[in-house]
Amino acid sequence: MKEERESLAFDVVFAGGGPANLSAAIHLKNLIVRHNALHPAEELEADIAVIDKSRRWGSHLLSGAILDTRALEELMPDYRERGCPLESVANDEGVFFLTEKRKFAFPFLPEPFRNIGYPLISLSRLGAWMAGEAEKAGVQLFDSTAAVGLLVENGAVCGILAGELGLDRQEKPKPGHLPGIELRAKITVFGEGAAGSLAGELQKTFSLQQESEAQHYETGVKEVWQIPEGRIKAGAVRHTFGYPLPADRYGGGWLYAYSSTMLSLGFVTAIERSAPESDPHRNLQLFKQHPFIASILEGGSLVEYGAKAITSGGLNAMGRICGPGFLVTGESAGMLNMQRIKGIHLAMKSGMLAAETIFEALLRNDSSPPTLQGYEERFRKSWAYEELYNARNFRQAFEKGLYNGLLQAGMQFTIPGLSLASGFLKKKESTEKRQQEKKKHSALPLTPFRPDGKITFGKEECLYRSGTVHEENQPCHLRISSGDMTEICLERCRKEYDNPCTRFCPAKVYEFTRTPEPALKISASNCLHCKTCALADPYGIITWTPPEGGGGPGYKLS
Ligand code: SF4
Repeated sequence: MKEERESLAFDVVFAGGGPANLSAAIHLKNLIVRHNALHPAEELEADIAVIDKSRRWGSHLLSGAILDTRALEELMPDYRERGCPLESVANDEGVFFLTEKRKFAFPFLPEPFRNIGYPLISLSRLGAWMAGEAEKAGVQLFDSTAAVGLLVENGAVCGILAGELGLDRQEKPKPGHLPGIELRAKITVFGEGAAGSLAGELQKTFSLQQESEAQHYETGVKEVWQIPEGRIKAGAVRHTFGYPLPADRYGGGWLYAYSSTMLSLGFVTAIERSAPESDPHRNLQLFKQHPFIASILEGGSLVEYGAKAITSGGLNAMGRICGPGFLVTGESAGMLNMQRIKGIHLAMKSGMLAAETIFEALLRNDSSPPTLQGYEERFRKSWAYEELYNARNFRQAFEKGLYNGLLQAGMQFTIPGLSLASGFLKKKESTEKRQQEKKKHSALPLTPFRPDGKITFGKEECLYRSGTVHEENQPCHLRISSGDMTEICLERCRKEYDNPCTRFCPAKVYEFTRTPEPALKISASNCLHCKTCALADPYGIITWTPPEGGGGPGYKLS
């Protein structure tokens, strides 16, 4: 007998508990409180829910990060008094080009690269604090709740389906099984971060990317380190490019001193389906071996490890950000400025603009598409749009390699948004096109690397520091059809790419085994939810779906 699904009704449901949606929920509540104080006779009430798949608020959030506080100041001018967790303030910065053994400092920093005065933060700590502020404001928070499907009726989104709990590997109910719940809403807001699974469904269902360039992504792998006193001053900020990447691969490293003994460091590697052989974890380990970084880390210890995909296509790759019954916020909408390597302030601003649109819709009791369209109009008139517009060709400039990119980026600092029209992002690529592209790319040299157990570590050891936990006996959330597994993974991909998933996954989820017979083993419980596999797999056959709510990384300082 088919189990009846419970259904809960809200005015607004936010899918994803990152800075975009938490800002939106807080701002919406504030707007309602202000309205009710000014117009007691026209009191407005709204049931607002934020759901997140993490077991603890903030534990799936990871970023560098240097926070441009512009949006936070608009949202909550007294954020410092409210205890916003700021680790330190950037007070000394440098950008360096690295060769294998040497470093060369940029003689001056163009305006978009300057960070002095901005706070250094841990995004997981900021997210946990924001969730607390949202709860205080009266927002209903549902953790350990994975959004697994769209509810669409009469051509409009009317909520989301939250995943069921208690299925075994064969998708059969276990004792204590709970069916999924329908969370119905007048307006649903999707802010699931980069490459959100429901945001992807929205794109297909409502053709959101039709007019835009294909989105681009990078993988950021991050570590938090405890180091001995005396190596670096609190507030020091270092950015690098060059080693260990070849000139035709976009990416770079960072090191931020939260304090004189606690560091955030990491490495960003471009994801390219046509050249999927890179290993973002390995790139970070090689980066740490560089004398510049190793001299700071020596004698220290790895505290936390994690990874995430980063949306990097900029304004040209942004699709429509609203449609019937829904809005899209934050990185799911492409709100990230790669020129400044910053997105949290844009995500927060997009959430606030979404809140203002929803407030108007609730006030008029009208959530029709023309009213929700106000979100795009608000965005176009905002400082967030202006910032993204000025940086719109930055990432594209590096499509033809580091040197072309640096030349164009340098000119863009004089004429914001300039493009020499040679590096626009490719439109959506077919599998065949990717195969042709593969021949044009130089293979990344895989520099011999053996972890030393002091500064560099293998994936298993790093994974242990990510706090990742999943219920083992549940359906595999990394979907590859059995036909593709046989024909592509074990045959074609093996010959053409030597199964790059075994390298590009920063958590060693994919392993090729030979006994008792050749097979691709998927250890889904190791997954860091970084989405790299779904974005980098050259045949596009891996689908990342949300596992049972509550599973995944357990970041505390990332
Ligand atoms: Fe990231 Fe995919 Fe590996 Fe999970 S399986 S850690 S999403 S690359």
